[in-house]
Amino acid sequence: MAMATRTPESKRSGSPFAELLADNARSLQKMNTDEVSLLKELAENGQHPHTVAAACADSRVLIGAPGRIFVNRSIGEEMDRATTAGFEYAIAVLHAKNGVIVAHTKCGAVGAAIEKNSIGVNGSHAVDDDSALGVTITNLARGLRRKGSPTDHTQAAIENAIVQGERLVAGSPIVRDALARGEFTLGIVLDDISTGRLEVVKVGVYSNDTEKIAFVDPHQH
Ligand SMILES: [Zn+2]
Repeated sequence: MAMATRTPESKRSGSPFAELLADNARSLQKMNTDEVSLLKELAENGQHPHTVAAACADSRVLIGAPGRIFVNRSIGEEMDRATTAGFEYAIAVLHAKNGVIVAHTKCGAVGAAIEKNSIGVNGSHAVDDDSALGVTITNLARGLRRKGSPTDHTQAAIENAIVQGERLVAGSPIVRDALARGEFTLGIVLDDISTGRLEVVKVGVYSNDTEKIAFVDPHQH
């Protein structure tokens, strides 16, 4: 955390969402005139993001400047219908040329999935298997088992992102069509949340024959 201890605004004022509004006001104050006019320009002329992303809901994952990346957030970048719909919209309507699944270090959802695979149940977080969260962790754990149940946390985060990328391609004719036409490229990036730096760790190679994607090291591409 950048900030030292501070009393939540909501506790001081007693008003709901006071922290949210205070944070919003603080970030607006920090904006320079270029950033202010960029927001206005994007509102008036529409968005043209170059990249569509699936990213974890984790609040430490920070991606892109306004108008640049169309971000779909879910726990552990789980690729569900909503996330897939976001990719389809970005490709078919916004004509985004690149897509990434953003793996990140210290992902709690990936940690829970590793734990579930190693001890067979949802662990210390005691997530009810029948809750939406429990189903998501079970889903992530199943995907990791298909990848040999990696136990290294960062490696598992990357393998999980690959599983989600494969699921996106399997589940969307729009995505497959864009890949087949060479109009869209899908890859895996890793966000080191301690620095905020993104690294491309895999690039997708799509086969028109099998209609499947293989994620390979960038230098092999
Ligand atoms: Zn995460």
